[in-house]
Amino acid sequence: MAGFKNVLGHEQAVESLQNAIMLGKVSHAYIFDGEDGAGKKTLADAFAMTLQCEKGAKDACMECHSCKQALTRNQPDIIYLKPEKDNRIGIKDVRTQINNDVAIKPYSSRYKIYIVNHAERMAEDAQNAILKTIEEPPEYVVVILLTTNSQMLLPTIRSRCITVEVRPVADQIVKDYLMNTLAVPEDQAGICVAFAQGNVGKAARLAGSEDFNHIKQEAVSLLKRIHQIDLLELIGAVKMVEEYKLDITDYLDILMIWYRDVLVYKATMDVNKLVFQDEIYEIKKQAGMSSYEGIENIIKAIEVARTRLRANVKLELTLELMLLTIKEN
Ligand SMILES: [Zn+2]
Repeated sequence: MAGFKNVLGHEQAVESLQNAIMLGKVSHAYIFDGEDGAGKKTLADAFAMTLQCEKGAKDACMECHSCKQALTRNQPDIIYLKPEKDNRIGIKDVRTQINNDVAIKPYSSRYKIYIVNHAERMAEDAQNAILKTIEEPPEYVVVILLTTNSQMLLPTIRSRCITVEVRPVADQIVKDYLMNTLAVPEDQAGICVAFAQGNVGKAARLAGSEDFNHIKQEAVSLLKRIHQIDLLELIGAVKMVEEYKLDITDYLDILMIWYRDVLVYKATMDVNKLVFQDEIYEIKKQAGMSSYEGIENIIKAIEVARTRLRANVKLELTLELMLLTIKEN
């Protein structure tokens, strides 16, 4: 847990939450809406910690009793719903951990804060149960629902909550974080950032994943040889990706970033704009070999392959078509 000053990006969300605290206009119910890894949990932690901080400032002081408890996740008035089953939040979870608990006054703090992660996993009866608390909360209660899709929540819940959109974070902020805080080398940080598209959690996961590095190396070595080897060998190489824990679509993303680099170089001749900074020689070579139309055909083919895989079209056939297009252009 950490305060607002440790939240990466999300300036608007942070500002509006801090304003609510300072103006004494804290709502009883919030929805933090954004994809996995976007920073919802960090933001909710910072908000909860600041609300409970004994100094009552716009950020947690990190020193008071409450902050110290929160830092070790032992603040008794910040409650994380723990569902019995992993991928479903049932009515019993909501009743026992929230509805039956709200009447008990906070132990030591001003608020009693309930944080529900993956709120979209609440079945309808569970949602109706939590609605009861949101409709008539004791004055000290704050409920924070974290979700990847607020549309899965009942309109009656949404209308009573303040929704905070947790949007992707600017690439430069994520890159600085990877390099300065996680000590990721610059070229690798660049690729992880391009890949993660503003998702700090994903960028950090990729940067720390050996599989990702292997996949990247294999993809790059395949791209270098692609015009020399035959289709069978190509497919064999791509299928090796299945051995890794990462998804085959991650591999396609790497190909996509590569060909975007080729296109960017062809159009601008500016090496500073490239993600694959350590492969400039190869990118230049491919930009010289292919026409604009050819590169665009390749990018389209990778997109089509991604859509087909999502629709569960056979992997081998999908890859074959994509690789043929790459070879031909
Ligand atoms: Zn404090």
